[in-house]
Amino acid sequence: MVGSKSFELNRDIDSPNRNIAPVSTEINECEKLVVGGCQLSELAKKYGTPLYVFDEFSLRTACKTYIYSLKKHYPGDSLPLYASKANSSLSLCALIASEGFGLDAVSEGELLTALRGGMKGENIVFHGNNKSFNELKFAYKNNVTIVLDNHHDIELLKKIASDEKPAKLMLRLTPGIECHTHEYIRTGHLDSKFGFDPDEVETVLKELMRYNWANLTGLHAHIGSQIFEVQPHVDLAGVMADILKLAQKIGHPIVDLNIGGGLGIKYVKEDNPPSIEKWIEVISNSVVKACRERNLDLPRLMCEPGRSLVANSGLTIYKIGAKKVVPGIRTYLSVDGGMSDNPRPITYQSLYSACLVDKPLNLKSEKVTIAGKHCESGDVLLKDFFLPPCESGDFLAVFGTGAYNYSMSSNYNRIPRPATVIVSKGGVDLIQKRELPEDLLQLDVLPDRFIPKN
Ligand SMILES: *Cc1c(COP(=O)(O)O)cnc(C)c1O
Repeated sequence: MVGSKSFELNRDIDSPNRNIAPVSTEINECEKLVVGGCQLSELAKKYGTPLYVFDEFSLRTACKTYIYSLKKHYPGDSLPLYASKANSSLSLCALIASEGFGLDAVSEGELLTALRGGMKGENIVFHGNNKSFNELKFAYKNNVTIVLDNHHDIELLKKIASDEKPAKLMLRLTPGIECHTHEYIRTGHLDSKFGFDPDEVETVLKELMRYNWANLTGLHAHIGSQIFEVQPHVDLAGVMADILKLAQKIGHPIVDLNIGGGLGIKYVKEDNPPSIEKWIEVISNSVVKACRERNLDLPRLMCEPGRSLVANSGLTIYKIGAKKVVPGIRTYLSVDGGMSDNPRPITYQSLYSACLVDKPLNLKSEKVTIAGKHCESGDVLLKDFFLPPCESGDFLAVFGTGAYNYSMSSNYNRIPRPATVIVSKGGVDLIQKRELPEDLLQLDVLPDRFIPKN
């Protein structure tokens, strides 16, 4: 949907990751953009901008498609986990838990959000390459499965877990498969900060057998993000099945195989990721084949989608303010947010699609660059894309912002974070309040001696 000319409504209703806009997106009789039965310009007026908007229908559809596809294509048990770093809030955790998902977390903050949001500890997996003592203790106390990433984890857990209540553990492997968006490589060793190297796995597995406090029941690997190919995951199944066989031979009761996340999504119309069902089908078939070839019972299959579960259910509405024409070079339109609510363009040069919420179909368009309001020249959300003539006060929707926007947001320039609403069938609920400038002062401390005396 780059520019108005190519506005496209959604094609793949069952797989939200293959559509730029949320699946419930419509254009109403006044030719205005509607999501979840709510006209976006009305939401912007009511809740202010920038505003994160979630489409409940898209979100539930993505969850249901994962669950359904696992049941259809994998003959054993399965449990998909939401990689909550993509967007962690009480309401999203509650909604995703209600669809039968578990969750993975990488900090006490994400764990707390998940638990308070109603996720059961038994369905939570705790990751991280530098977990603190307190974080591990918190996870252990709440019956969360802990993913051993390195020897430091093991040393800390020795002081936390008891023989009477062994810690439930998974082992994270560095499988020697690395994905970039459009290519991947396989090597024996990888320069990765995560997980145990293939060479040391056997030693670690043997070491863990000696500890009564350790109950190793699963293996984990995650090979990358925004992946459009399926072959890396086919190869991963073989690598993991080899280690599954080794671990069982050594004596560990491994029942869970967690193949991580990484399924890509459509940010711009050139993107063509596999559907959720296709991805699950390929993974399921590869795991089944790898296990049959090695005479292994089928493990419970886990996967950890983040982006593909939430990104395309979300969008951000901004208000257009200043316009600057640099003759012969560029027209800048500035919006009331930017790198603080969406750091992906400045961090990864990520591309997005956008349109004017009340002129989604206008065919006359001009080339513009959408700039954020932060003090960085690089604070540009969309470069050189086409928009119908617009004026200050018009609302702009940027699509695909449901993942890694709020969760990576900052208060740079002391700009408060946007509110988040969730829409469904014409109704709207606030799920995160807008921060206020006052909120940003809450944790500041001003020692007496800094206060002017007069
Ligand atoms: C980031 C991450 C995920 C989710 O990746 P997506 O590309 O968002 O699906 C899953 N598992 C682990 C361990 C991760 O670090």
